[in-house]
Amino acid sequence: MNRSQRNSISESQPHKASAGSGNDDFQRFRDRLESVTEGTHPLVDIENGTKESYQQHQYEENRLTWSEVEGNCAIMPVNNLAFVDVDEPDEVPDVIRALPETLRVDSPHGGYHLYFRCNGELENSKFDWGEVRVDTWYVMAPGSVIDHDGYCGDDCSHSGESRYELSQDREPARITPEQLPDPTASETAQSVQQEEVEFDSVDVDFHIKSRIEKAKNAKHGEQFTALWEGRYRDAGYSDRSTAEADLLCRLAFWLEKDEKAMACAMDIACSEHPRTDGMSPRKWLERDGVYRETSLKSATATVDNEYSGSTSGTYRPTVSKLTKDAVFEALMDLKAATSTEIAEHDATDRSKRQIQNALKEYDEQDVIDWTKDGRQVYYYIADCEEFIPDGQRAELGL
Ligand SMILES: [Zn+2]
Repeated sequence: MNRSQRNSISESQPHKASAGSGNDDFQRFRDRLESVTEGTHPLVDIENGTKESYQQHQYEENRLTWSEVEGNCAIMPVNNLAFVDVDEPDEVPDVIRALPETLRVDSPHGGYHLYFRCNGELENSKFDWGEVRVDTWYVMAPGSVIDHDGYCGDDCSHSGESRYELSQDREPARITPEQLPDPTASETAQSVQQEEVEFDSVDVDFHIKSRIEKAKNAKHGEQFTALWEGRYRDAGYSDRSTAEADLLCRLAFWLEKDEKAMACAMDIACSEHPRTDGMSPRKWLERDGVYRETSLKSATATVDNEYSGSTSGTYRPTVSKLTKDAVFEALMDLKAATSTEIAEHDATDRSKRQIQNALKEYDEQDVIDWTKDGRQVYYYIADCEEFIPDGQRAELGL
């Protein structure tokens, strides 16, 4: 094979083989929506294999146009687009079944997204069967790929990778707000803004509200309060996933790892402060029961101490020294590596979550540094760029 043949092959099959935007479904989807989204940056850059955005996507300047996007991506409900996101197809009410035929994307987990154009006052709302997304809540574009083993982990019965597929290639139908389900008419539905939760709805031996007050006034209280109020940037976080994971760990400590109490506290925090400082919805509000259960379990497993009235009650962030040592050893060996590569290294027999926590602590302590190459973050030991092999160092621009 000569050089030009090799090039043409690598161009027609870019290294993002699992990428969304090169896919046929994505091209047809683009043909349907490009004119609808005209004048906006409708697309959100999403980490390949996942549904997580890289950016504060509520800001238009952090979003992409149709020609800029590569790999996994999501679309925002711009220009009066409205998404009906069905998670539980067997539970959809007649009002959803009665909607006109429209553009539809099937998700890798058995649900689907319906695309509509709808003028009028609308707000995001959640139901037992799914959500109506009209304001800053994105849905994944077809062609995007989910890695069930890596991303979904144990909370999914699928394995390998699967794609969001364009299952009905039609113009997005026009509907009126009255055709959408009324979040106030159903007992189970909650309009996100109107959600109200009682502190005492959970049966525990302690009073949740007074524990939260204690946490706010304790040693790390300022950061706790920032996390509680969704001021994730004040708490030192640039993305809401890690910020919320941290809040859950703190709640695990203060609420003695009682998952029901933690869930109740999250409901309260999110009803008092439904949006983050970046104006995203709190992730807790946006995600379904599986996400909530997994994050609760992960938090209780991550925190190894808990509040007891007799101690002064200091929440101690908990990445074990062993994990940090293992990560350091892997980095010494790999020189520059992604968190996945570190997690796969022989030295680190740990979950990716633990690895990421260790990397985060090291980063805060300036032990390590990182750089972004395209879509990947590469970590290396601070001031040790010179040990990274020349070729890779040049690729990473170090
Ligand atoms: Zn999955």
